Order: sequence, then structure tokens, then C-alpha cells
Amino acid sequence: MMDEAAKPVPHPSPLTQPYWDGAAAGVLRVQQCAGCGRLRHYPRWLCDACHSFEVTWKDCSGRGTVHSWMVAHHAFHPGFKGDLPYTLVVVAMEEGVRALGRFRGEAPRIGLPVLIGFEQGAEGHALPFFTPA
Ligand SMILES: [Zn+2]
Repeated sequence: MMDEAAKPVPHPSPLTQPYWDGAAAGVLRVQQCAGCGRLRHYPRWLCDACHSFEVTWKDCSGRGTVHSWMVAHHAFHPGFKGDLPYTLVVVAMEEGVRALGRFRGEAPRIGLPVLIGFEQGAEGHALPFFTPA
């Protein structure tokens, strides 16, 4: 029998470090364009609305509703084989951005109110998950 493969780990960068700091503190921290105020998540260099590189960070409430969901039956990486099957949700956060994470609950459905949480992942990084609100 093969040893269980290690899961891939996040690699925080200057671009994403504020997100990871927020996750460690238990909050979803997203970028806000300093030029036009638009929120965006995942972190990226450029505002797709006004093309500004200037950015601040905003803590989200953690509340949202399920936009879409799926159950993974095949591992995209050997490190996740032991977790199968697992459920992923794309959540429309009440601030207007979408976030992806594991779903910890019975039966997801589109429109289900959920709350974000963070759990300790590999190498000390906090990873997001969602539970029914
Ligand atoms: Zn902008």
C-alpha cells in the first residue's frame, strides 16, 4: 500500500499575505480597489473595473448564500484521495464577492445561507470552509 500523499500547501506572496493574515484571524479579508471602491476576491494586482493597482483590504462579515456546489468523487491531487467524497461550495458573500471552500453540513442547495469558518490546514495555514447559517 502506498503512503498517503501530502496535500499541496498555499504559498503566500506579497499579493496574498493580507488574505492569509485574515484567514489566520478567522475572517475573510478581500481586496477593495482604492480607485473605485470595487471589492474583489481572489487577490489580484489590477482592478478589472478601473485598472487601478491601488488597493486596500476589507474584512467581510462571513455571511453569504450558496451560489453553486459540487461533490468531488475524484481527487485532482493524490493528497485529497483520503477526503473523498467531499463537497465544495461557491458562496456569494453578502459584500458581493464569491468565495470557494469546503461545505460542512448535510445537504447544500443553491441559496442556502452559510457562514464562513477557517480551520488549520497543512503547514499552519488557515483554510476556509462553510457551514449552514
Ligand atoms: Zn477600481
